[in-house]
Amino acid sequence: MLLDVKGLRVNYRTVYGNLEAIRSLDFSVEKGESVAIVGESGCGKSSLGHAIVRLLPPNASYEGSVTVDGKDVFTLKGRELRAYRGSEAFMIFQDPLNSLNPVKRVDRQMLEAIRTQRLMRGESYDEEEATRVVIDGLKGVRMPDPEIILRRYPHELSGGQIQRVVIAMALVMKPKILIADEPTSALDVTIQAQVMKLIKELKAEYGMSVLFITHDMAVAYTVADRFLVMYAGELSELGPVDRVVTDPLHPYTVALVNSIPHKSKKEGDLVSIPGSPPNMLSPPGGCRFHPRCPKVMDVCKAENPAIKQAEDRLLRCHLYD
Ligand code: SF4
Repeated sequence: MLLDVKGLRVNYRTVYGNLEAIRSLDFSVEKGESVAIVGESGCGKSSLGHAIVRLLPPNASYEGSVTVDGKDVFTLKGRELRAYRGSEAFMIFQDPLNSLNPVKRVDRQMLEAIRTQRLMRGESYDEEEATRVVIDGLKGVRMPDPEIILRRYPHELSGGQIQRVVIAMALVMKPKILIADEPTSALDVTIQAQVMKLIKELKAEYGMSVLFITHDMAVAYTVADRFLVMYAGELSELGPVDRVVTDPLHPYTVALVNSIPHKSKKEGDLVSIPGSPPNMLSPPGGCRFHPRCPKVMDVCKAENPAIKQAEDRLLRCHLYD
């Protein structure tokens, strides 16, 4: 097992009160495995990614444990924490431009990342050799003319090129786990498909584990081995992608799958999920999905279901009690 999340809770102090982003979450990712965290906005998936790389904002508090390759992430401090980020867990953010410094050329940023990593590991640094590594990294993400790209500033690159530079950075840092938080949502559909293909190829080629965070099940389907469906800060369903898509069991997953557009679906087959996700400052009692669930029962309003193993997956739903 590479990533192990146990009893994770994340709360934010806000002027309106305590916002519970993740109530309690347990799951793991194996070496070389890809797990997609899916759910609507506000379900806690980005908080999960930020907690794993310890980049939660100062108003956040967290409990539970996150271990990456046996390392207890929440106890890391200073130099150890900086070495962990990038070297062991690398996060790609939603807006690729935010991942780069706008006033530094691409080569300076990539070389600086390698230099810092090597110094922290007590290894020697040679700029010529590191430049070769960076060029190989850009070639690895199928970037044409890497020598020219290296001399450019981020604003001189397209969105797709910037996201490739960020993925190339992940490639040269060789993290154990790549956390990609909506990495294609700021890109057009053609570039989106290219970036997804790239992440899939890199996973296969380098055996990296991937945690793919997205609201879009159709996009995640192409890279993931398992889906972890989250609703209102909790796990709803966890299982193999093919099984979850062809035979969703949790009513929320059923609604998500029904809302995926597909050429085989006729007009009227696409159903949007009624209502909206709850306000996490005062989430509903019982099952958090009950105000929107077409299968709601009396028990759902009174008791939050526990997680159960049903067939080949984990589920949080009274239908499977
Ligand atoms: Fe629906 Fe009840 Fe299951 Fe919640 S526990 S998803 S309300 S059936």
